[in-house]
Amino acid sequence: MAKTQRLDIVTPEKVVFSEEVDYVVAPGSEGELGFLPEHTPLVSALKTGVLRLTQDGKTIKVAISGGFVEVKNSRVVVLADTAERADQIDVARAEEAKRRAEQRLAQKSENIDIARAEAALKRAINRISAAQK
Ligand code: ATP
Repeated sequence: MAKTQRLDIVTPEKVVFSEEVDYVVAPGSEGELGFLPEHTPLVSALKTGVLRLTQDGKTIKVAISGGFVEVKNSRVVVLADTAERADQIDVARAEEAKRRAEQRLAQKSENIDIARAEAALKRAINRISAAQK
């Protein structure tokens, strides 16, 4: 049998994924990072984006919003701020969050935390994009 590697995706709230996989592509802060089993050890920051894992010929998408990845001994550990499997994303909720963030950014008031609204907008757009087939 072909070698696999362990992928753990953990957030402060829960373990989102913990299974053997064939391949992982993660949204590194400096660009996409691809991991096959026996990858050299590495630690990298992640940005808001879609992680793709391949398992038994099938690809699963997971929306993540920042964090870190550590790769060592055929084990990939993703510590993410938030993470949702594509099939568990509530698209209506993400559309609503997107609309709220866009409204806040359009207000241009001094009371708006622009960075926070932009981060919320990015998370919402990322979730919508991950949930698309
Ligand atoms: P909202 O305003 O809808 O809460 P948010 O971007 O502020 O969106 P986060 O703080 O990033 O939400 O996430 C809070 C929790 O809710 C996390 O556990 C996250 O995985 C989950 N979550 C957020 N949005 C969704 C969604 N659209 N579908 C499924 N889970 C979600």
